[in-house]
Amino acid sequence: MTHKELIIIGGGPIGIACGLEAKKRGIDYLILEKGTLVNSLFNYPVNMQFFSSSEKLEIDDIPFISKEAKPKRNEALEYYRRIVTSNKLNIHLFEKVEEVKKQDQQFEVRSNKVTYRSDNLIVATGFYDLPNLLNVPGEDKPKVSHYYNDPHFYSMQKLAVIGASNSAVDAALECYRKGAEVTMIVRGPAIGERVKYWVKPDIENRIKEGSVKAYFDAEVVSIQDNTITIKQKGKMQEIENDYVLALTGYRPNFSFLQKMGVALSDDGKYYPQYNEETMETNISGLYLAGVICGGMDTHLWFIENSRIHAEMILEHICSKKKVNS
Ligand SMILES: Cc1cc2nc3c(=O)[nH]c(=O)nc-3n(C[C@H](O)[C@H](O)[C@H](O)COP(=O)(O)OP(=O)(O)OC[C@H]3O[C@@H](n4cnc5c(N)ncnc54)[C@H](O)[C@@H]3O)c2cc1C
Repeated sequence: MTHKELIIIGGGPIGIACGLEAKKRGIDYLILEKGTLVNSLFNYPVNMQFFSSSEKLEIDDIPFISKEAKPKRNEALEYYRRIVTSNKLNIHLFEKVEEVKKQDQQFEVRSNKVTYRSDNLIVATGFYDLPNLLNVPGEDKPKVSHYYNDPHFYSMQKLAVIGASNSAVDAALECYRKGAEVTMIVRGPAIGERVKYWVKPDIENRIKEGSVKAYFDAEVVSIQDNTITIKQKGKMQEIENDYVLALTGYRPNFSFLQKMGVALSDDGKYYPQYNEETMETNISGLYLAGVICGGMDTHLWFIENSRIHAEMILEHICSKKKVNS
């Protein structure tokens, strides 16, 4: 069985940062990524522009040059890909970790291809694989998607956008500008507080002038082939509809963490337990990095503020190594 000092689960920006840090420090590591490189970013909307300026997305101070101050998705793919290839990082793509067991002070990491043994483990699996479901009848219809990609698809269609966060607002505006008839269904009384300050007035003004229709304090009750039924302040309404974008957020894979024995808070937020200086969880040798650290509060950690996790974790792994040698 292949043995590694460190296995990193997830080849997103933070998993890559951990791999780079491990390489710099001479640790024998392997990154396992279930999809393509930076799979979450690859699946972001095609025209997506980051809210962070490019230098805030840099890892290991490797310059990230972008055309505008805030880079686009394609530029980020290029940046992280170049980091991996030019540093010859040890990464296996399209290899999903299915189970982790701890045995005799080592982790047994079983992927869909191989089983490895590892002294340390970093879980950097992000949050973008599991959408928060509406749990309403009709949600499984092909006209419903929890991921938004390209506005052109919705041109000249009656599109319902569920949610009022950054993703929902970006999708609503882009699709409206490509000729979709957009209706937003928003559970709260207004557009989300955390929507980018330079985008919020745009959507609010489009709603005010009626170019984008919005139902506030409303929720979707059911989805039919040509309509959706919503409930607003106790009143049911049926709206004509061709497509639904349910952009109500995503959540980390908590059961994956639980099966490994990572303690999670029981307040519905599923905050994982970890040491804030070392990122080590209640399982010795098992570390968390990136957005997964925030439990259900997936806005707490992002690339900008979690890229430091790599250094913190590798510092701890190296200090343990020194003590044991
Ligand atoms: C539209 C949008 C815009 C954003 N803009 C910004 C921004 O401007 N600035 C910023 O700092 N952040 C931004 N973020 C947030 C940022 O993209 C995430 O916080 C970031 O991707 C976190 O990196 P990560 O490596 O922790 O997780 P991810 O990028 O999600 O990477 C996790 C990886 O783990 C893989 N994986 C999952 N499970 C397994 C498994 N079992 N086995 C193997 N691999 C697995 C996934 O395929 C994925 O590639 C944005 C997010 C969205 C959705």
